[in-house]
Amino acid sequence: MIKTTELTKVFGENTVLKNISTTIKPGEVVAVIGPSGSGKSTFLRCLNLLEEPSAGDIEIDGKVITTPKVNKLEVRKNIGMVFQHFHLFPHMTVLDNVTYAPIKVKKFSKEAAEEMGKELLAKVGLSDKVEAYPNRLSGGQKQRVAIARALAMDPEVMLFDEPTSALDPEMVKEVLDVMKDLAQTGMTMVVVTHEMNFAKEVADRILFLDNGVLMEEGEPSTFFAKPKTQRAKDFLDKVL
Ligand code: ADP
Ligand code: MG
Repeated sequence: MIKTTELTKVFGENTVLKNISTTIKPGEVVAVIGPSGSGKSTFLRCLNLLEEPSAGDIEIDGKVITTPKVNKLEVRKNIGMVFQHFHLFPHMTVLDNVTYAPIKVKKFSKEAAEEMGKELLAKVGLSDKVEAYPNRLSGGQKQRVAIARALAMDPEVMLFDEPTSALDPEMVKEVLDVMKDLAQTGMTMVVVTHEMNFAKEVADRILFLDNGVLMEEGEPSTFFAKPKTQRAKDFLDKVL
């Protein structure tokens, strides 16, 4: 579903992704972990071309997206993204947040979009918030709206960048539960997270980034029990 080949990203004199090659299969849930500043967000942002890779290639669903003539909007239609800070439209109701892109981009009728939007909001447990405005919601509720909004475009891949890092502790679970349900539907997911329990339980594979280098990748059971590199050992000592 996603293949990166020697993906490299340079900011000024700073090479923040160094020759990252990996393949993510359809339906796979991959957790990207590593120290702050290791390039996790940049890696995710390259996958939907929010950042332009400096070198290397990315294929999504068999199509190379790292060519000058690629239509970025077409690429992004297929890739949902959820951010740490929600990024909801504050002046729109919850339902309008969810239906906006399907109506604008996918040319859904208002009725069809609203029917789908309500279904998605029910799935994330927010049927009673359809008409609410974002400022009336808790962080956990906002993030669930953001997930429903991303799903409304019917993406093939969902990217999550620390979706629970801005939440009060009691709201983390409700968001992780929604993500777990989504994983069980067979969605291909790439999740940058500090939630090691989520990574252990839900991810099929861990990518460990350190200083822009993909230091290790493997099954969670192996990675957490027997990290191969000293870098990964040091990191796990700090976070576990
Ligand atoms: P992480 O998500 O793992 O914390 P990031 O991908 O955000 O790491 O950042 C990796 C490195 O790239 C950091 O050194 C950061 O300062 C740098 N960086 C990220 N975005 C930019 C940018 N737009 N311009 C310059 N440097 C950036
Ligand atoms: Mg980050």
